[in-house]
Amino acid sequence: MRRLRSAKIIATLGPASSTPEIIRELFDAGADVFRLNFSHGEHDVHEAALNAIRAVEKDTGRPIGIIVDLQGPKLRIGELKSDKVTLEKGALFTLDSSDEPGDETRAPLPHPELFQALQRRSHISVDDGRIRLQVERVTGATAETVVISGGELSAHKGVNLPGAVLPIAPLTGKDRDDLEFALERGVDWVALSFVQQSADVEKARKLVGRRAALMAKIEKPSAVNGLAEIIDLADGIMVARGDLGVELPLETVPGLQKQIVRAARTAGKPVVVATQMLESMIHASTPTRAEVSDVVTAVYDGADAVMLSAETATGEYPVDTVTTMSRIAAQAERDPLYLPILNAEWAEPEATHVDALSAAARQVADTLGAAAAVTFTSTGATALRAARKRPGVPVLALTHDLRTARQLALVWGVHSVHTDDATDFDDMDERACRIAREQGFAKPGDTLVVTYGVPFGTPGATNTLYIASVA
Ligand code: PEP
Repeated sequence: MRRLRSAKIIATLGPASSTPEIIRELFDAGADVFRLNFSHGEHDVHEAALNAIRAVEKDTGRPIGIIVDLQGPKLRIGELKSDKVTLEKGALFTLDSSDEPGDETRAPLPHPELFQALQRRSHISVDDGRIRLQVERVTGATAETVVISGGELSAHKGVNLPGAVLPIAPLTGKDRDDLEFALERGVDWVALSFVQQSADVEKARKLVGRRAALMAKIEKPSAVNGLAEIIDLADGIMVARGDLGVELPLETVPGLQKQIVRAARTAGKPVVVATQMLESMIHASTPTRAEVSDVVTAVYDGADAVMLSAETATGEYPVDTVTTMSRIAAQAERDPLYLPILNAEWAEPEATHVDALSAAARQVADTLGAAAAVTFTSTGATALRAARKRPGVPVLALTHDLRTARQLALVWGVHSVHTDDATDFDDMDERACRIAREQGFAKPGDTLVVTYGVPFGTPGATNTLYIASVA
């Protein structure tokens, strides 16, 4: 099954979409990758979703990526005496480390280490910035604050300390349990929440190794500041606009999206734009004009994937939302300005065999009007470098490694196929042409540009470019 767009779609699963039937419908509608959000749901629910995704994969023969999104060190208010309390603008409100449930004058903040990061005039955002507090005084594990923006507060609402680098571990005990659970079940990507610095990615890598690819969510100002090192250590990047827009002024988020996407693309690391892309479709069957523009902007930015969160996890129209997003992305890519805009951010080849061949393959494909670029890839690196050039033809990535095929489901313009390694020249030629035909990328008489490595079957040996004629 061939998708008629290069940008990929990630659909988050949740109560609205976890049945095998809906997962299949989401895939058919255009979801290339599924995200399991471990901030919600028990392991047995995630396990059922994992099995359902793998069943769709088996049925369709298409590799599907699975991302497990770890909750990370999300800070939350503790218990309250009643369901809700109202915080009035200008009122005094205390946060402390007592176990006593809170009220309209105080609430427990069960993260004692945070108080060290607070000082007079620090700002605290609660419930995605709906409530804002300013610290007046900190004594030990008690912070007295003034309510700057009031509202209704309920128990366990999220807390952000915008701008602060917090003395907290990047993975909680829950994250470690979730991680082991996910890795044992062979998930393809692990997304790390609230990455503060590159050392957080390093710590996660020690646990994950190469069992899954690591995606760093950029949602903290300190992560924006340390972006280059984080991109260097991670396998992929997510512009997590939800928390980013709480930690930083909202009006800075669009510019940051462009900077982050550009930096990740230059490094050849897949980049995802996430959150509120078609938010109104949680309750409506059509999106707003502004949301359509937002998706198109991410597509023009050259993001590898656009992500749906609550729209597909809890929304009323999960399948329609994926259909809509797929239509929007496909239409944007048909725009005559699309490729010129993408190519305006030309990523120079690095002095490696793979980059030299990718640049040459792109040039040859353009000159000959090739139907596709075919790469034989083991780790996926050759396909990533080919996609980094954002070529005008699809990249068919042939790999013997199922995990690589699944991880590449996230990558711009890559159609991955799980197949045996080529054993010799004739096998390579036959395999490239046959698979391109079978998968709907080429017909007899078409030309393919193929990159592969000799000796055959040696990972990391891409050193040859070949022009194949499809019989
Ligand atoms: C975000 O904050 O934008 C995000 C994707 O993370 P989460 O959905 O975990 O809040």
